[in-house]
Amino acid sequence: MNLIFLGPPGAGKGTMAQLLMADAGIPQISTGDMLRQAMKAGTEMGLSAKRYIEAGELVPDEVVIGIVKDRLQAEDCKNGYILDGFPRTVPQAEALAQFAKIDVALNIALDDEVIINRLGGRRVCLKCGATYHTSTLNGKDTCANCGEKLVQRKDDAPETVKNRLAVYAAQTAPLIDYYAKKGLLKTVECAPKATVQENYAKVRETLGMA
Ligand code: ADP
Ligand code: ZN
Repeated sequence: MNLIFLGPPGAGKGTMAQLLMADAGIPQISTGDMLRQAMKAGTEMGLSAKRYIEAGELVPDEVVIGIVKDRLQAEDCKNGYILDGFPRTVPQAEALAQFAKIDVALNIALDDEVIINRLGGRRVCLKCGATYHTSTLNGKDTCANCGEKLVQRKDDAPETVKNRLAVYAAQTAPLIDYYAKKGLLKTVECAPKATVQENYAKVRETLGMA
């Protein structure tokens, strides 16, 4: 299955994609993770993406399109993949349609208030992409998967989060319609207090994986 995970920042796309990756054996392809890794490694692309990311703006389309196009050539994508955080604009979706055949665009929907709260306490592993929330870490600061020290993303600061939500509403939300018109859209409504496992059960059900 070739999947797209749509939804606002902090809706849980990454968390759901990691669970599905382990469960279905198809890779999670997160453009955000790839860009952060490039920033950490100090590559030219990483350096040029940094100022957009830290301001909560989108990295230019041609950059992310190039990354995804390359990544989809890899051997591990031949039985399917989960695109997490791409496409984020209509031009990205149009470019994607030229080199990939998407089966489902899954919209992970959640209230803005819940999002702001979640992102404030989010901690991430820059090595494996795992995400955590301070409310469940009990003061721990290393990744349970790989032992790497966890960090707070600069773009999870409250001011930047507001901008990311505005960018989402203006540039990414139109993709919901775009994929609905193509008949590819499915939606999972995440209740504010639902657990990760409950939300993941809904994702599986919505994808017909019962
Ligand atoms: P979140 O889903 O929490 O907003 P991501 O890790 O997906 O976070 O993305 C973080 C940042 O990386 C975005 O705010 C943006 O600057 C950049 N980015 C990631 N994916 C894309 C994309 N498809 N197009 C443009 N910029 C992107
Ligand atoms: Zn890790």
